Amino acid sequence: MRLDLLVEPLVGRLKGSVLLIDHKFTYDFYQPDNLLLNPQMPKYVGTVRYNGYPVHEAYLNMFRTRFPSHLISKKSNDDLFKRMPVGLQEMNQARIRNALKTQMTASERILERRKLPLDLWQEEALPVQNNMICRSCPFKNPCIMMEADVPAEKALGGEYQSRSYGYNSEDSDNG
Ligand code: SF4
Repeated sequence: MRLDLLVEPLVGRLKGSVLLIDHKFTYDFYQPDNLLLNPQMPKYVGTVRYNGYPVHEAYLNMFRTRFPSHLISKKSNDDLFKRMPVGLQEMNQARIRNALKTQMTASERILERRKLPLDLWQEEALPVQNNMICRSCPFKNPCIMMEADVPAEKALGGEYQSRSYGYNSEDSDNG
């Protein structure tokens, strides 16, 4: 887990509070439902509190990527950026516990899969092929090619590189 910001204001109304802040690049600003379904902040809050920091509020800084670069100068700041409080008062222990439990289960499955040979990873991974998900997937083009039996190495075409943290190292997680 990698926090973007943990802030302790030294002046002003929030002096003495501990604020958790996450930056998001997002096509559209989150709606309240997105926030209620997103497990990231409950996981962060639970982990930070477990480590002894009393998080008082959490915020998402959302940078909206909907507009192509030639339209950005015509947009107002409100079109492009929004800071949204996560609402820790409404985030109960059950949400934190369930988010962490799902993460632990997923982590265990990943660790089990990592014990398999690489070709079995590929065989066991099923493409989700769901319009809502695939339309913003950065692997869409190689995925289309692999569906037509183009080998993975060729489909990736040298345009991707291994991530420098997470699945390829032992000492960090999925950020
Ligand atoms: S396009 Fe992306 S999300 Fe959709 S099936 Fe392929 S890899 Fe999965």
